[in-house]
Amino acid sequence: MDKTPILIAEDDPMFRVLLQSWLEDRGYDVVVAENGQQAWDQLQAERSPKLVILDWMMPGLSGPDVCRKLRSRTDLRYRYVLLLTARSEKQDLVAGLEAGADDYLSKPFDALELHARLNVGRRILELQEQLLAAQEALRFEATHDGLTGVWNGGAILQALDRELQRAGRMQTALGIMMLDLDNFKQVNDVHGHLVGDEVLRTSARRMSETVRVYDLIGRYGGEEFLIVAPGSIAAALQQQAERIRASIAEPINSSAGMLRISASIGVVGIEGQRSLPEPHALVRAADQAMYRAKAKGKNRVEEGVLQEAEVGS
Ligand SMILES: [Mg+2]
Repeated sequence: MDKTPILIAEDDPMFRVLLQSWLEDRGYDVVVAENGQQAWDQLQAERSPKLVILDWMMPGLSGPDVCRKLRSRTDLRYRYVLLLTARSEKQDLVAGLEAGADDYLSKPFDALELHARLNVGRRILELQEQLLAAQEALRFEATHDGLTGVWNGGAILQALDRELQRAGRMQTALGIMMLDLDNFKQVNDVHGHLVGDEVLRTSARRMSETVRVYDLIGRYGGEEFLIVAPGSIAAALQQQAERIRASIAEPINSSAGMLRISASIGVVGIEGQRSLPEPHALVRAADQAMYRAKAKGKNRVEEGVLQEAEVGS
């Protein structure tokens, strides 16, 4: 069985050794801090134990001090904190819990009691993990397209907004592509929707395999995809779009046999703009370029231009 990692912070060397060996005998993997500051340093590390025992009285940062610091940092993952103290006044207990401790135990500790309370902590941490996993699954469902697994329309627009602001802040380039599968309706009409879905999935997978790792792909509409390419300057953007176009044009081995589909792509990039365009202006420019690619015979890449008026504000 895996050992449960636990962090203990105790300034009294005798008691620290006692606690450490008691825990190790019970199968815990013990990380030791000799004072509050060391404990706090540990807690800020991503991979430090989730189960924590803090002595109340320590020089520098006390147990409750460490607790308060920990609870004020929402970016750190949840820790189950047990405060250990020689104090036994009720008001102290309240102060400890108010500082953010989950539980409280008096010194000298009763072995059975500590054992039982640590088990409670482990159970709560387990529930917390399950809750996070369920939350993550929900978040994924809410932001991803169920069919293709890429971002959905709402999420890719949010990502565009975020990347646009970042590009403005960092004065870096940003490119977007609007991609529409050509004659997709025919696939559905001739082979049925299930084959249409296969074509959508395969096309999305080819896009994912062709873009750079930090590019973002979203299903914008039925057979329309929006790709956000942070840092991509105009020339690179064209080449990238060309690679994506070529990958989609490869024959698709579907359940209805070999199929061919192509894509028309409109690209538009911003670079060192004095003022940022609105996301919708960028999308509209890419959209117009995509329609121009359609008009010029499909299966091609066209570059869009942002209208000066749209670069304002
Ligand atoms: Mg102490």
